[in-house]
Amino acid sequence: MADATAHAFAPLQKTFKTASGKSGKYWSLKDLAKQYPNVDKLPVSLRIVLESVLRNCDGQKVTPAHVEELANWAPNAERTDEIPFVVTRVVLQDFTGVPLLADLAAMRSVADKLGQSPKTIEPLVPVDLVVDHSVMVDHYGTPKALDLNMKLEFQRNNERYQFMKWGMQAFDTFRVVPPGFGIVHQVNLEYFARGVYKAPDDNAEVPTWYPDSLVGTDSHTTMVNGIGVVAWGVGGIEAEAAMLGQPVYMLTPDVVGFELTGKLREGVTATDLVLYVTAILRGEKVVGKFVEFFGPGAGSIAVPDRATIGNMAPEYGATMGFFPVDEMTIAYFKGTGRTDAEVERFEAYYKAQGLFGMPAPGELNYTKIVKLDLGTVTPSLAGPKRPQDRIDLGHLATKFSELYSKPIEANGFNQPADKLKQRYPLPHGAAPRADKEAPPTKNGAPREVVEMTANRSTKAAAHVAASAPKAPSGTVTIGNGDVLIAAITSCTNTSNPSVMLAAGLLAKKAVEAGLTVKPHVKTSLAPGSRIVTDYLEKAGLLPYLEKLGFYLAGYGCTTCIGNAGDLAPEINELITKNNLIGAAVLSGNRNFEARIHPNLKANFLASPPLVVAYAIAGNVMVDLMTQPVGKGRGGKNVYLGDIWPSMKEIDENLRHAMNAKAFRTNYEQIKDNPGKLWSSIKGVSGQVYDWPKSTYIAEPPFFEGFKMKPHATDAGFTNARIMALFGDSITTDHISPAGAIKESSPAGIWLKAHGVSKADFNSYGSRRGHHEVMMRGTFANVRIKNLMIPADAQGSREEGGVTRFQPGNEKMPIYDAAMKYIAQEVPTVIFAGEEYGTGSSRDWAAKGTYLLGIKAVVARSFERIHRANLVGMGVLPLQFRGADSWETLQLTGDERVDVVIGGELKPQMDVKIVVHRPDGTHQEATVRLRIDTPIEVDYYKHGGILPFVLRQLLAA
Ligand code: SF4
Repeated sequence: MADATAHAFAPLQKTFKTASGKSGKYWSLKDLAKQYPNVDKLPVSLRIVLESVLRNCDGQKVTPAHVEELANWAPNAERTDEIPFVVTRVVLQDFTGVPLLADLAAMRSVADKLGQSPKTIEPLVPVDLVVDHSVMVDHYGTPKALDLNMKLEFQRNNERYQFMKWGMQAFDTFRVVPPGFGIVHQVNLEYFARGVYKAPDDNAEVPTWYPDSLVGTDSHTTMVNGIGVVAWGVGGIEAEAAMLGQPVYMLTPDVVGFELTGKLREGVTATDLVLYVTAILRGEKVVGKFVEFFGPGAGSIAVPDRATIGNMAPEYGATMGFFPVDEMTIAYFKGTGRTDAEVERFEAYYKAQGLFGMPAPGELNYTKIVKLDLGTVTPSLAGPKRPQDRIDLGHLATKFSELYSKPIEANGFNQPADKLKQRYPLPHGAAPRADKEAPPTKNGAPREVVEMTANRSTKAAAHVAASAPKAPSGTVTIGNGDVLIAAITSCTNTSNPSVMLAAGLLAKKAVEAGLTVKPHVKTSLAPGSRIVTDYLEKAGLLPYLEKLGFYLAGYGCTTCIGNAGDLAPEINELITKNNLIGAAVLSGNRNFEARIHPNLKANFLASPPLVVAYAIAGNVMVDLMTQPVGKGRGGKNVYLGDIWPSMKEIDENLRHAMNAKAFRTNYEQIKDNPGKLWSSIKGVSGQVYDWPKSTYIAEPPFFEGFKMKPHATDAGFTNARIMALFGDSITTDHISPAGAIKESSPAGIWLKAHGVSKADFNSYGSRRGHHEVMMRGTFANVRIKNLMIPADAQGSREEGGVTRFQPGNEKMPIYDAAMKYIAQEVPTVIFAGEEYGTGSSRDWAAKGTYLLGIKAVVARSFERIHRANLVGMGVLPLQFRGADSWETLQLTGDERVDVVIGGELKPQMDVKIVVHRPDGTHQEATVRLRIDTPIEVDYYKHGGILPFVLRQLLAA
């Protein structure tokens, strides 16, 4: 923080008092408003950013001009100014946290080699990593599922967890929440976020306090926007820069005000509301904008509902979905175990700043206002392929039937209509669920029955083979629309007691009515914190969920991140042999192709109670509004209305969920009782990592040949070959999948060559600490379609990461082609449609692109984080102008491409691309350089953000 006495705005430092008379200092926005009256009318979220700019104004990275520019924010001005935003802290999940830790370790190695202290590389703000992405649903439908899944998780991830333990001892401000505690955003909401903060080195008698704010290496970091925290997801490379003291740079955003009025009707859940909000805001095109909720409706909805809406900001495309702090936020802080001192300081600070309370209509300025009457929201699902495609519950059955035979371009499945209702018998198999004798876990705490042994790989392989999901026995048939996965998953909903209690209450009524879950459904319950099982148990509802197969499978992301585990081999075979369109119903936030399971093409997002209802109904073509969910006792039809819980019933049970003591007791265990499995992991010690041989962790190649002075970057290039032509909505999961590694893929072949058996492949996400796997996994999604490969006779396109190597047209995996082009020193480019890089923030999508030698991506539009990540890795993002596209340029993939940058590199400048066709003709097009800010120009010139930051730290 800047020295207050030398600070350009020193007189604005004031004192506030808490209810019990304690004093704190703060940088006063109200006093700043005396110089810039506009400040009082700024959206609350922008004023929190402004406080950071004001407080950190050191005349170097942050200048008085930055303060002035933001203080004068105008709702509809052209956005050219850059804001340097210094965040309070950083959160990580393990998939993104491990590669980030590997980068930090590599920087320490460079510092060491250059004769500098490794401690030069040290996070300057608190960093919390939650291990949540690794647990898989290998076991389900049994009381032993949690223990068995955790045991497998530790066997598979031992090397990664050892590396984290090295990080814990090497870096002073780096904390890890071990596996089995919860999901990063729920833990952030319930525990990390403490209201207001002071600098770690501020030991003054009256310290200076400031608001919580953060960046996280996960798109859904926005969940914490629900409690008034300014936060969003960034790529790991940006997060590294933030933790090493760089401001997060962004263009001054538009702020869309979302006015909520009315009240949710009986039977409508927060999940339904968020699917409405997502569909509305997708239509409003809020990409790169802040969304701020206000009005009486916003003030009336519960804080967990606000968090659910904040969580899905990436799905509606916004940078944030922000709710200001009010009395309900304070009540949530009290109910979730924050201390009295923290709560009163939080409230006093926000009141002193004039930031407290839900704004009324007309009170603040917004770029645009969108409105929703909560009373118009109806029960909904979203899918089958995109979260913004909301479907009224009553329309799902007809929608699925229609899409079944519609062409792929119309979002359909392109199947013959006469096969829709055909069913196929499963061969007789063993019992579907294993070992029902084992005693259930208490309070959801992991029992950790198995001790780790030295020979983990072999044991894990044997265990997976022995525990592979079994097919249901008897005369079970499988057909289109069958629900094959029903998962209560994802922090989006598991952090919300009202929908989790609703699922439990629905399960109770269903069991009492004699309903059961269809035998072909893989059921799982995976909450984002142990608090959930605690309150479900106290409310007496957990046994009913278990009775329907929803046994606790893990405290982690599971199905939401694509760790649903496999289906029974017999089911997989029936699907692939008969082109069956099987369904998943999950309470997650993403349903892109192949995200949930490679063989499930229809994936519907729904509230937890609807997940349970569809597991009972067994098929998405059952119209739950008119048809029975199933047959209960005595063959009686039971309808959804018979088992749907009332708001009153949910409210009566909410008291179990807001128990400050339970929250405190739970989170104290992170330190006091992290679990035997975690305690038994042996970490390497020392300030510099020694990179033991591993197929999980390796020294990343980003600093090879590092010099203090960057190479001069000639941004243009000529004679590039086209690596791929992609359509719209290519996600980061298409570019760098997180899920299963195919045996025949380049990554699978590399792992096998390094002695890893198929059963121990684990996922791409868990191997992000190893560039050899990740390079080979880039563009390896089994559903990605490179349109350079011609369509077959039926018009279908080949799926998988393949290309045609030029010249010669030989078809081969993109990785293999990339290595050949690199060997020949031929640059390559990618062409794509709209929303390139949409989906999770995934820095490997940019790192992999860079390591494959791709110099530029030319697209119709880019997702915010992925665009920044490309720049951060030194890859040019170029955007077509107007109606231009690779289709209008009539590209086929056989062409050569020049990228011509005339003059000095400037943000958003025009760049010329020249296409040379095989027939000797050529064509030019002007595209826009999507290096958006001056600091990004510097990053690019340094070969990326990591070398830039490293040079700064070593030079300091
Ligand atoms: S549950 Fe889903 S949204 Fe939440 S952190 Fe995990 S993957 Fe991200």
